[in-house]
Amino acid sequence: MTSHRRSYTALQLSSEAQQILELARQFAEERLRPTAEARDANEDVFDGEIHRELGELGFLAMRVPERYEGLGLDLATYLYVLEELAWGDPGVAVSVSVHNSLPVSILLRHGNEAQRTRWLPRMASGEVLGAFSLSEAGAGTDAAALRTQATRTDGGWVINGEKMWVTNGASAGVVLMFARTDAPEDRRGTRGIGAFLLPAGVEGLSVGRKERKMGQRGSETVTLALKDVFLEDELLIGDPNRGFAYALEGLEGGRLGIAAQALGIASAAVDAAFEYAQTREQFGRPIRKFQGMEFKLGDMVTRLEAARGLVERAAAAHTVGDPRARRLSSVAKLFSSETAMRNARDAVQVFGGYGYSREYPVERLFRDAKVTEIYEGANEMHRSLIARQLYREGGYA
Ligand SMILES: Cc1cc2nc3c(=O)[nH]c(=O)nc-3n(C[C@H](O)[C@H](O)[C@H](O)COP(=O)(O)OP(=O)(O)OC[C@H]3O[C@@H](n4cnc5c(N)ncnc54)[C@H](O)[C@@H]3O)c2cc1C
Repeated sequence: MTSHRRSYTALQLSSEAQQILELARQFAEERLRPTAEARDANEDVFDGEIHRELGELGFLAMRVPERYEGLGLDLATYLYVLEELAWGDPGVAVSVSVHNSLPVSILLRHGNEAQRTRWLPRMASGEVLGAFSLSEAGAGTDAAALRTQATRTDGGWVINGEKMWVTNGASAGVVLMFARTDAPEDRRGTRGIGAFLLPAGVEGLSVGRKERKMGQRGSETVTLALKDVFLEDELLIGDPNRGFAYALEGLEGGRLGIAAQALGIASAAVDAAFEYAQTREQFGRPIRKFQGMEFKLGDMVTRLEAARGLVERAAAAHTVGDPRARRLSSVAKLFSSETAMRNARDAVQVFGGYGYSREYPVERLFRDAKVTEIYEGANEMHRSLIARQLYREGGYA
């Protein structure tokens, strides 16, 4: 049934990588897929049990190195696992992607040893779920327009402001949060933003209710209000003025997580259409025998394979430090998210009227796909970024 999802087994993966992939596939088929509809329907509830299991099985430890009690998976294997999880439930996959790709990776790269030892083992075990909070009501694509203010005080910082769209925000044990460290009378743009570790339950922090979303309703997206929140010095990551650069660097990897999530959606759409087209009969034969349906399935699979190839190419570029990695991440995110959307739309079409009914999962996939074109950089921004990077690189190579 799922032969195209298995295509990566042809690659030379280590036996450890094969094992975690097999585990992810099994978890997606047996635990995520059967419960995805319930998470979608009960959008006000965060599925703590599934997250406990994700931690227990090691999915929250994927990008944490072994010296901090993680699995230390290579980027490509991590992305294959995310694709599997997203095949089961994209809303759960985004939570895993945010945790591993953003707070874990940024802490690892820019945190000091005391911070890494304090947080990473607990993040790897799942005891502490991570979140990433850059966006605000007025700061989306133009993220550096954020206004949350961090003011220096004895032994730390006092933070005031409101953050928006925080995935995992209510259940996280720690939120990697960005605030202005420059003074209101001396704004320094992208060079006056700091990255802070915001522990859950700190005094002055309040969490808004879950956003009512079109799709990925199982994922938790909330606002955070900070009123005179005091954070000690050891909760500041690296240079107080370089937080924005850390965020952009993290998002470069993060958007590959979203690309992998989009692959999972695109491949779930292929599976659904493939099965339905051979069981549904019209004019006395399965609809898959009609050329119009063959063209759809042919296009869906071709797009999926092309998107997967781009994600693999971008992952390889990151792994070897290729200077084109930034552009390739944007290309992979752009094409994979548009593939998710187009495959989900085609799957609904293959199902006809039944595709429009909530009785079948393609309706949910269609809603789940849309946000992949919006978050971790809206696709318009990626198109511009690809063109600008091309000039920086001096042309196409
Ligand atoms: C479900 C969900 C989860 C999210 N999770 C997180 C999270 O965990 N942490 C976090 O920090 N943020 C998160 N976000 C925020 C997300 O990253 C932003 O929504 C995204 O960056 C777009 O910002 P915006 O929504 O303010 O849109 P805007 O920036 O207002 O954009 C509106 C439209 O204008 C276009 N546009 C804007 N600027 C330009 C430009 N220069 N050129 C061309 N077109 C442009 C955009 O492409 C878009 O089509 C999440 C969002 C959603 C919906």
